[in-house]
Amino acid sequence: MTTRPPPDDLAVARLTALEAARNAARLCVAVRAEMPSDPAAMEKAGREPVTIADYGAQAIILHTIVEHFPQDSVLAEEHSAEFDALADRTQQNRVIQHVGAVLGRSVTVDEVRRWLDHGRGVQSERVWAIDPIDGTKGFLRSDQFAVAVALIVSGQPVVSALACPMLPFHPDKPSGPVGLIALAVRSAGAMALPLADGPERPLRVSPVRSLDQCRAIESMEHSDHEFSTRLLAQAGVTRQPLRMDSQAKYAAVADARAEIYIRQSKEQGYAERVWDHAAGALIAEEAGGRVTDLDGKPLDFSTGERMTRNRGVLATAGPPHEALLAAVQALT
Ligand code: AMP
Ligand code: MG
Repeated sequence: MTTRPPPDDLAVARLTALEAARNAARLCVAVRAEMPSDPAAMEKAGREPVTIADYGAQAIILHTIVEHFPQDSVLAEEHSAEFDALADRTQQNRVIQHVGAVLGRSVTVDEVRRWLDHGRGVQSERVWAIDPIDGTKGFLRSDQFAVAVALIVSGQPVVSALACPMLPFHPDKPSGPVGLIALAVRSAGAMALPLADGPERPLRVSPVRSLDQCRAIESMEHSDHEFSTRLLAQAGVTRQPLRMDSQAKYAAVADARAEIYIRQSKEQGYAERVWDHAAGALIAEEAGGRVTDLDGKPLDFSTGERMTRNRGVLATAGPPHEALLAAVQALT
């Protein structure tokens, strides 16, 4: 009898994350194409807007994860209870139609509910952190958004896929093909694939060292912009920061489109959510960058949904990192 080699778990996880992010991103693009002027966002009580694309994308991602890793734990932004409370029958039907179109078979509302909640509350060293649409506000503006899928093992992201459907694939061709998937495996590097099919290329951070040449990016909606301005000035970064929604900022650092991503919430004491950072942080690191919080501590992904042991985020190409941490110390 021949013994088969053990499955290469990380290789399967990588393909799972890629397929999940790509299919979810395709659903988002299809939904977006149907809502030119009336984006039909549903308001979660006191929270971010949510659309049928958020539910459809999360259902697709979890459908893929259930198939390959049914025992794993999941931390994901959307819940079936909210899907029932916020989406009326017509909206739920649109979700199942879009999910069915991507999966190539008919899908029921009950299946979508089960996928949305799959893995929640499961105790495991292996946790999938999922943001079906990171930057829903950007999505609604036809601006940047991302589909984020990361596998965290023992508190460390080890595989991640980040689909950025609105990001030009080539940094130097802003009017060229749009849609990039960043993919990373710990200790194996990061790469960019077109959202449509096509050849991949490695992701590598910018070599720029001089602070006055550095380009910074910050959140459009959630950052303390005044803090970033003071911090960058203190560190000697003279260029105006760019603003961008979603974890596409991490992809921008990984792909040498910017040297610095700085994030301090405009809400005092805000603890970041794990699915807003796990995928992007691994990609930036695997492209050769550095990622810490504003105190220079590694991001701690082991505290559940909220990153309660960190304050803000600093992701850089590497060279500017220490100067920015020193500027934080000087200012706070
Ligand atoms: P960004 O576009 O970089 O601001 O990232 C979008 C993410 O910010 C959303 O997915 C939210 O989870 C998260 N978010 C919501 N409110 C806040 C807040 N007050 N401070 C920081 N992040 C937030
Ligand atoms: Mg998010």
